[in-house]
Amino acid sequence: MTEAALLSSISSAVTVKGATKIVGVFGDPIAHTLSPKMHNFAFAQLNLDFIYLPFLVHRENLKSAVESIRNLNLAGVNVTIPHKEAILPYLDELTPLAQAIGAVNTVWNRRGKLIGHNTDSPGFLTSLKEDGKFDPRNKRAVILGSGGTARAISAALLESGIKKLVIVNRTFERGQTLVSQLKKFSQQPEIYAAKLSAEILREELRNSDLFLNATPTGMDTTALAFQAEKFLSPHLFVFDALYAKATPLLLAAQRAGAAYLGGLGMLIRQGALSFSLWTGVEPPVNFMRQSLENK
Ligand code: NAP
Repeated sequence: MTEAALLSSISSAVTVKGATKIVGVFGDPIAHTLSPKMHNFAFAQLNLDFIYLPFLVHRENLKSAVESIRNLNLAGVNVTIPHKEAILPYLDELTPLAQAIGAVNTVWNRRGKLIGHNTDSPGFLTSLKEDGKFDPRNKRAVILGSGGTARAISAALLESGIKKLVIVNRTFERGQTLVSQLKKFSQQPEIYAAKLSAEILREELRNSDLFLNATPTGMDTTALAFQAEKFLSPHLFVFDALYAKATPLLLAAQRAGAAYLGGLGMLIRQGALSFSLWTGVEPPVNFMRQSLENK
């Protein structure tokens, strides 16, 4: 490489300066995350002096990691598996939406005050609307999982006028806790919890219009939930929060003749909302989408 070519390649790379604002994502595992790629591409396109970094945070280190947002003057972070609920007590303030959902995926450092918000819930709804194939109003849904993502998606479904919501989870008690919180959110729909088993999935999916996966199990083809293929049929709409294009569940939905949607649109939309919170700038959604097209 000539000296001129070398200099030009250096100048087009991310430049971190003394005043560069740092944001990132706390999670465990974290190596799979696409968020740094999406946000750093968007910062570069808008010429914003920000950088987005992945942080591997084990459960036992979450409290000190949250303190470091203030101590290291990070502008904010996203929070992912498994910290979305556990982070609540360590924050200074929650937005009404994060409070109602009981899960935080975005923290904003406002002059040393750590504010927890949830962009997963509106991000999910926007991506469903953008896709345009399924309207949850007056429909029946089965959601697999009871963690932070299941909370956000459940709240979005209640807001959209769902008629019935069944929470199927490996740990029954966790599902029950979520159901009692959702009932405070809205009294209208029929909501109950069930323990994950093949029989329960078969029975509940027979009487449902929508099946949503809000667990990380999609990469494990032997997981009980993903024997779901046996229970899928063309009358169902299937959503997988995982953002790989071809998860085992989505492939099973395709084979069963069911319409389906993956989690990539939700990832982009929740990220766009976090982006505008941290930067105060209109999110460049098309650039964010473009950054993930050839992931
Ligand atoms: P979380 O709070 O840790 O909850 C995980 C849930 O998955 C729990 O209900 C857990 O059940 C269940 N689970 C875990 N392993 C399981 C297994 N082997 N079999 C059955 N159930 C299992 O995690 P989260 O933050 O909600 O994230 C869930 C997934 O959603 C992750 O894969 C994440 O990447 C994805 N996600 C995608 C987007 C997007 O924008 N597309 C946004 C957020 C999250 P127990 O209660 O029994 O432990």
